[in-house]
Amino acid sequence: MRIGFGFDSHRLVDGRPLILGAVEMDFPKGLSGHSDGDCLLHAVCDAVLGAVGGGDIGDLFPDTDPKWKDAASSAFLSAVAKMPPECGLAVSNIDATVIAQEPLITPYKKAMEEKVSSLLGIPAERVNIKAKRPEGFEDAAADVIAACAVACVE
Ligand code: MG
Repeated sequence: MRIGFGFDSHRLVDGRPLILGAVEMDFPKGLSGHSDGDCLLHAVCDAVLGAVGGGDIGDLFPDTDPKWKDAASSAFLSAVAKMPPECGLAVSNIDATVIAQEPLITPYKKAMEEKVSSLLGIPAERVNIKAKRPEGFEDAAADVIAACAVACVE
């Protein structure tokens, strides 16, 4: 059994759709980034990569490569999902936390869990997504969404 950890954050800006956990959310701002800015999927990618010793998401999909400009991060996770089987491993479960002042993540958690599990090819009950407000650092975390994730592979 191996464990990997991932973290990512992106800034909320005007003029972008908000895609988080491969789910489009109803919100007037979206996450900036070279790709679609989906920090939850980026954290999950890094967690899986960490568990298999596969480096990090920037090694695989550099933000200097025009190929990944505005790319759907679901493509990153689909590609990363192929790596554990290549090492004779399978993702056992994912546990992730999203840290956001707004929007409210809770109504979207189930849809996100379903998307992440489907991209990884594992049952939805093996993906757990939690949501936290940045209590005590609200000002520092305004207009930011952050996510961390742990992946267990066996
Ligand atoms: Mg990122």
